[in-house]
Order: sequence, then C-alpha cells, then structure tokens
Amino acid sequence: MSIRKDSTGSLKIIALAGAEEIGMNMTVYTYEKAGGEAYSILVDCGVGFDSMPGAMVMIPDIRAIKELGLKIEAIIITHAHEDHIGALPYIYHYLQAPIYATPFTCGLLEKKFHYLKNRHYKTEGIDLTQIEEVDKANLIVGEEVPKERKKKINQVRAGDTKKFGPFTIQWVNCTHSVPDSAMLCIETENGIRVVHTGDWKDDIDPLVGVPTDFETLAKFSQKGVHALISDSTNIHEELDAVSEGLVLESLKKLVKDTKTGKFVLTCFASNVARVKSSLEAAKEAGRKVLVLGTSLKKCIEVARELGYIDDSMVIDEKEAKELAPEKVMIISTGSQAEEGSSLWKMAHKTLEAGSVLEKGDTLVFSARVIDGRQHEVRKVINKLVERGIRIIHPWNSDSCIHASGHPTQPDIEKLIKLVNPKFVVPVHSEAEHRVSHIAFAKKLGYKAFNLRNGTIAEICQDEIKKAGTVKTGRIAVDGQRLISVTSDIFVKRKEISDNGFIMITVRLKGQSVGNLLISDYGVYDSSDGKSKKDNLNAIRAALNALLSGRSINIAEKETTKKAIVNEVKKVVNRSIGKNPIIGVHFTL
Ligand SMILES: [Zn+2]
Ligand SMILES: [Zn+2]
Repeated sequence: MSIRKDSTGSLKIIALAGAEEIGMNMTVYTYEKAGGEAYSILVDCGVGFDSMPGAMVMIPDIRAIKELGLKIEAIIITHAHEDHIGALPYIYHYLQAPIYATPFTCGLLEKKFHYLKNRHYKTEGIDLTQIEEVDKANLIVGEEVPKERKKKINQVRAGDTKKFGPFTIQWVNCTHSVPDSAMLCIETENGIRVVHTGDWKDDIDPLVGVPTDFETLAKFSQKGVHALISDSTNIHEELDAVSEGLVLESLKKLVKDTKTGKFVLTCFASNVARVKSSLEAAKEAGRKVLVLGTSLKKCIEVARELGYIDDSMVIDEKEAKELAPEKVMIISTGSQAEEGSSLWKMAHKTLEAGSVLEKGDTLVFSARVIDGRQHEVRKVINKLVERGIRIIHPWNSDSCIHASGHPTQPDIEKLIKLVNPKFVVPVHSEAEHRVSHIAFAKKLGYKAFNLRNGTIAEICQDEIKKAGTVKTGRIAVDGQRLISVTSDIFVKRKEISDNGFIMITVRLKGQSVGNLLISDYGVYDSSDGKSKKDNLNAIRAALNALLSGRSINIAEKETTKKAIVNEVKKVVNRSIGKNPIIGVHFTL
C-alpha cells in the first residue's frame, strides 16, 4: 500500500445523519488546506422514516454546516432512494450547490423538483438562512443559472471521474434495488483516499443494471485506501444475499399458479428490478398490469424512458375493470401500509382506491417491513384476510418473493478484503449495526472507526481520529414548513391527540364576567349527547362559582386565566380521569 506522506491538508468526514438510524443519509466531506481554507462536498441528502405527529417526513438538521462555517460546493448523490435523495427538494433552497447524480437518479430528481417547484418550504423556529434566498431562475431544472453557478442537476455516469476543488471523485457501478446506484471513490489532492459505498450488494443476476464493478474498486484500492465508509444494513445476516434473479423465478411461478382472481403485488416504488420482474411474470401468465400509486408511476416512467423496463402491458383502470380478474395484475404502493397509499385505500375500500380487492384475489408483499411499521402492516393484512384475500408475505411463504438490496456478511467481507482499507467506517446503521460492523471488521483483522452522527472524523495520512463533534438532529417537514422536532408544536399535538382539547370563552361586560362558551374536541363522546352536556355543564357550574363577582381588568387577566385552567382541569380529571389541553379566551 503506498500512501503519500505529504500532509498539506486533512480530510474531515462528518455524518450529519445516517450513522445512528437506517435512513436520512447525509455525509459532509471537508478538505482543509494547511492555511485553513476549506472545500466541502455533501454526499446524499435523504429523508428519515420515523415521524412526528402530523409531520410528513424527517430531514437532517443542516445547521451544523453553518456552525462550522462550511460552504457546500457540490451535492453528490449515490442513488435514487428516498433515504438518499428525499430531503433535497425541501432544503435545496438552503444549500444551493449543483447536484451530481447518475441518469436514473437525475430523472427522478427532475420529476421531484418539477412537482414541488411552486412550493417553498419556509423555516419556522430554526435558522437555515446562511445562503441567499433562491433566485426563481435557479429552480428551473437543467437551466444555466446566474452568478456562474453550475446547472442544478448534473448527470454523470458510472466510470466518470470529476474534480471538485481538491477532490477527485469516481463513480463506480454497484448493484442495489434501484438502477444506476453508484459507489464513490474519493481522492483528495494530497492522496487521501476513501471508498463511500452508498447502498450496494453483490448480485451476479441483478436484473436491472450491471453487477457491482469490483474490478474498478480493486484498481482504485491498489493505491491504498484510508477509509471504507460502508453500508451496515444487513451486517447481522450471515448467509449470502438472495439474488434478484431468484425472485423473478419465484414470482413467475406464483403468478402462473394463481389461476383465479386478481394478482396484486406491493413493493417499494423505487424497486425497479421488482417492478420489472412483476411485469415479466404478468406477461408470461397472460395478465395485463394496472399500476397504482403516484411514486410508482413516476419511477416506472423514468425507468421506461431510460430503457430499463418494457411497460407495454400496463393498462389503465377503465381497461382493468373490463377484464376478467384472472387477467389482471396490480402493482401497488403501500408495502408499509402507509396511510393514503394505494394498498391502504384498497384495504379500507375508499372511493379513490382505483381498484377493489375481492374474495379470491391474491396479494403479495414483496418488501421487507421497516421497523416501526409492523403494526400497521398487520392491521392491513388482517383487514384483507377477513375479506377472503390470500396474503403472501416473506414470513409466511417458502417462495422467494423479496431480496434485500444490501450486502450481508459474506459481501461485506469480500469488499473489505478487496478494498483493504486502513479503517472500516460503518454507516447506514443504527447503533447495533454499527457496533456489530466494527466487531466484524476487527475479527477480519481491520481497524474500524466509530462514526456517530455529528462526529467530526479527521483523516491525516496514517490515522483517523475524532476531531470534535457538531450538533445534529432532525427537522420535520410539516405542510410547507420546516420545523425542528424539538418544537413545542409536536409536544402540544401529542398532548391534544392523547387527551383532547377544551376551549373556554369568557364574555366580558366591562370588567365583569358575562356568559361562558365551552366546547371540547376529543374529550367527550359526541354520540352520547346527554353525558357530554352534563360534563360541560359541570365545568360551567364550577367556573361560574369561581368567577362569580370577580372583576377582571387587564392586569388580572393572566391570573384569572390560570385559575380557570386549574379549575377546569380539576373538574375534568375528577369526572373522567383525563388531562386535556385547556384554552381560555376573553371576548367582549
Ligand atoms: Zn438504497
Ligand atoms: Zn439507503
């Protein structure tokens, strides 16, 4: 291994997110010259899968970029999964750097930006405004923008090498469950080399795209790699990863053997290989295909435009209704039973479901269930089983109906030995994955570095060390706002959802108390009018007693408000044992 010994600069790696959760991937690479001048790139910009009450998705808190005084010069995206690209449309305003990605990722990003072009996600309670407000022209995809900025979305291909200031980056083909996934071979001007795997697996029959390019990785690695920033998702799996080719064969058999009823398959929208397998299985069994779900339709459109799939057997809802059930396959979003997804609508028989599942239909869950979604998936399954629908999922079937897109231990070992890094740095991990991955690397005789969210890891030629920490966190996308997850909005929403809300309006006649208006939301059962009325009257009686004869001037309003809140809480708690939020208004 020959690693240059000059130390004109150092490379710092900061995981802003993605090292303590599976999701929300975002890593900053900063090269600092001896004089202190820094150049930074951002790798991936994903959303998280957990949620706050009422919020749509989570994105990484990027305030650390400002705190460290960094300017992001380029955003490099490894692949088109939501946990790697999903946050971009929400925070691009605040990053304003050109994006570099492979064709499928660019195609999906352009659709995302186009879809969201009229929405500006404003911050509330957090300051992300280190970069000037976006110029409208900058929002036009692919168009040259003022101030000598580069195009917003720039296409690169596997094998391409590009220079970004002191960084040289090579994109390397890898297999994953979405087309055009890439690993990154990163080299700094003073010869520090890093392999950033993104999400990958070793599959000789990936169906979409080509197998992982170990040859190019080996060539880069010959020069000596300091750090392997590595996917940890399946570090606990000891067996070889299942090939997508096997899933295709299983699906073909399943569809062929299903002689009656509609055949429905749900998978992640971006799993183009699975969609391709489903389309092939449908074609062979003489079924036409109805696609349900906006995100799925978007992915299929991009995949077709790039020649990855043939969707000629896709039909619309009207055509599907005219066909016999055994002539129809449905590919649907909703494998995680997300509320409002097409599968969820079909399970709940909502009007806009697009199709109805009937007794005798078959539904295949061709996806793993993300942690935290098991309960919701079970609810949908039980609803459908009650209606006589046959459900096949990975944990009740011997058929191979899902293959993970991530490397298991044999793949991880193969890559570590091939790249032969000075340090293995696990990411795409919860703590348990990270700790296991570190132990696994050590067992193979390699050193490993514990990179947590916010750790500033500094690589200087022969070592990698912790050079500090920076605050990280999550921001919730709530309607058109970006709000810190620590905002009291979410505390109050949770309280209201758990305990309900009571509103007291006190009419004032000058400084004396007039009549009271009392209403509740989610405290008393509206279907039991008498009980509700009795309870509200009990509150009214207690407040009348409390306020009787009281004169309320401006100075006393707050004190009176507190007394009202305490009194109402007392009455409600005594009668039903709940502790609702109480609002008090004074009006003339
Ligand atoms: Zn992925
Ligand atoms: Zn991922």
